[in-house]
Amino acid sequence: MDDKNKRINNNTSEAGTSLNFIEQIIREDIRVGKNDGRVHTRFPPEPNGYLHIGHAKAICLDFGSAEKFGGKCNLRFDDTNPIKEETEYVDSIKEDIHWLGFDWEDRVFHASDYFDRLYDFAIDLIKRGLAYVDDQGSEEIAKQKGTPTRPGQESPFRMRPLEENLDLFRRMKDGEFDEGSRVLRAKIDMASPNMHMRDPVIYRIIKRVHHQTGNKWMVYPMYDFAHGQCDYFEGITHSLCTLEFEVHRPLYDWLVDKLATGDYRPRQIEFNRLNLTYTVMSKRKLQELVESKLVDGWDDPRMPTISGLRRRGYTPESIRNFVKTIGYTKVEAINDFALLEHAVRDDLNIKVSRVFAVLDPVKLIITNYPDDKVEEMEIINNPEDEAMGSRKVPFSRELYIERDDFMEEPPNKFFRLGPDREVRLKGAYIIKCTALKKDKVSGEIREIYCTYDPDTKSGGPAANRKVKGTLHWVSAPHAFEAEVRLYDRLFNHEDPMGQKGHDFKDFLNPDSLQVLKNCKLEPSLSEAKPMDKFQFQRLGYFCVDKD
Ligand code: ATP
Ligand code: MG
Repeated sequence: MDDKNKRINNNTSEAGTSLNFIEQIIREDIRVGKNDGRVHTRFPPEPNGYLHIGHAKAICLDFGSAEKFGGKCNLRFDDTNPIKEETEYVDSIKEDIHWLGFDWEDRVFHASDYFDRLYDFAIDLIKRGLAYVDDQGSEEIAKQKGTPTRPGQESPFRMRPLEENLDLFRRMKDGEFDEGSRVLRAKIDMASPNMHMRDPVIYRIIKRVHHQTGNKWMVYPMYDFAHGQCDYFEGITHSLCTLEFEVHRPLYDWLVDKLATGDYRPRQIEFNRLNLTYTVMSKRKLQELVESKLVDGWDDPRMPTISGLRRRGYTPESIRNFVKTIGYTKVEAINDFALLEHAVRDDLNIKVSRVFAVLDPVKLIITNYPDDKVEEMEIINNPEDEAMGSRKVPFSRELYIERDDFMEEPPNKFFRLGPDREVRLKGAYIIKCTALKKDKVSGEIREIYCTYDPDTKSGGPAANRKVKGTLHWVSAPHAFEAEVRLYDRLFNHEDPMGQKGHDFKDFLNPDSLQVLKNCKLEPSLSEAKPMDKFQFQRLGYFCVDKD
């Protein structure tokens, strides 16, 4: 074939700069000069729990798209409900966002910062005949709501005179009435095909102390009444949220239209939420696990929380790469947990040192190696990255290897150690098993005896001699002892939430945590600090736990 005539197809768009559907909308909004071409997003967590990997998906989009277009992203705590929020959650949320690599600069806000303005707006709606106080309880209101195919019934209080509404709402605010006795509703359309437009409740009475505003308020705005308005007050241009809010969008727009004076409008755009197999994602469910002590706190390494993943050894990059891989669409989906695990292995593979750790040790004695000799073997830290250099690992007559790297009667395909078999000890010598010592009672192997071939060391005359198996090892007198914890999936069902007749906790995996004591680690690990990560050769990735 003539090389000059080859046809070559480009397989990515503009060298990887492809935009997700939301970023395409933003780019178009900028192009047509909407909101003066500004890009301003927000991340609006409710401080009622720790953030989870689903929130990471939202954070990467909110902060990431602002960054991409030279805009800004606010952090706004949705603290409209005084009952559930705690400062511990506020602090953890901030820590997790920073750890993921994003920053709100000086723009941290609370929905409660706007309680006065929201209240004024509610008064304004009443004055315009667009809101009324309903004296009915929630049950009666629900009964009158209708169904998606049948229109609702108008409340008997819908036509209440304006002055009476103003008076009652003020007295609700001042705490004159009991919780649940009255609400303020927007007057929209009880026959709307969208249930959210059927005179939604916008304020309710809650007699609680709020962590920001103290006991100033006895009425609190509903999420739907606060969210779009806060967006408006902050000059948000793109209000990105998950698909379940799609049906709220007409209400979002209706309220913002009533509030807006000029051309500026925030725009709500929805994307699919992150769901993962073998886990639960709702903060309420995660809290249940924490409170019933089924896990060791919000940052238990088995939890899908950002703090749990951090303690498990995930890096910010691995989480961001995972989020990039799954992308943003308008279709609900469930992603495989294995994809997340793949992302962290991919990242750590090139970043961390490969060290020797023997988790289930058995003693191995090299009978022809001098008793008092210690050699410092030069071991490369990571063959993927030369710049990571090498380290010295002591080798001596007595070593530990993994118990399951030895079999007394090995099958054909077993390429590890057995009687009269040879293996290479990684970075050291080829050894041959010559004898065994077993426990008289249990029959368990106590010691394995070997001889070594001095010519097979790196640089030696028989360095390239081939044997089938290579084992990791740790010098017994130099070993550093540690407790090692092996984690498995927290649930043993792919969809623990979706099983009729079952509580999600029925599917907790009883073997999700295995604690191994007296593991033997190479001595360099005695220097390791909390959050340091390693690959244990032939075993997997590990992270030093917090103190
Ligand atoms: P949960 O149901 O877990 O309590 P939430 O939606 O109530 O979650 P918020 O603190 O209100 O939690 O959420 C803050 C932001 O994070 C919202 O914009 C929400 O849409 C987004 N978010 C929450 N869960 C997910 C998820 N699983 N995938 C993507 N985004 C999410
Ligand atoms: Mg919520």
